Amino acid sequence: MLHQQVDQKISEKEAWALRRQLGIPNNKRLWVLACMDERLPVEKALGIGEGDAHIFRNAGGLVTDDAIRSAMLTTQFFGTKEIIVINHTECGMMTASGDFLSEVLRNQGIDVDQVSVDPALPELKLPKGVFSKWIKTFTDVDEICTQQVELLRNSALIPQDVVIHGYIWEVESMSLRRPYKRLSDQVNTASAMKTKTTKHTEPILEIGSLIE
Ligand SMILES: [Zn+2]
Repeated sequence: MLHQQVDQKISEKEAWALRRQLGIPNNKRLWVLACMDERLPVEKALGIGEGDAHIFRNAGGLVTDDAIRSAMLTTQFFGTKEIIVINHTECGMMTASGDFLSEVLRNQGIDVDQVSVDPALPELKLPKGVFSKWIKTFTDVDEICTQQVELLRNSALIPQDVVIHGYIWEVESMSLRRPYKRLSDQVNTASAMKTKTTKHTEPILEIGSLIE
């Protein structure tokens, strides 16, 4: 009967529209922390679709106070059981130091020691001299990814049983990899390929590959 199909559709729409009221988590029970960079397509990178995850993006894909606030809410109250951090190569956060950026703002007449970092919460103030650190520029994407995972694992606001992993999105190859695991480092030189050699001779290819 057609009405059964119609009823089914209506029920699905209701469950979608009332997810938070009904306590229905996102499909994959997943929270993603990712950089805002336009070259990082989060859903495509993870192979996920509409409704699958709560996705939080900021400059760098970094654990900030608002990232912790969102991670706390999704894991403590919205049924999320897994966190994935995605940082990426050629991130803008590696193009200047925090001190340099603070200086640029100061030269524009902005007092970075007095400025409000959360206009809706004026009580939240940065101590003098902390603004540059608050910008959170970084110098190594593999290192920063590993650090973000550790920061989340050590947060008292996130339950201990939440599974947390971090990956690097390579904008040059448009694919994900694990921190410090660069395939490109293993394919361009004989030494990286650990080519077998005899003593005092030039590196030679394995017999099998010579025959082909
Ligand atoms: Zn970035």
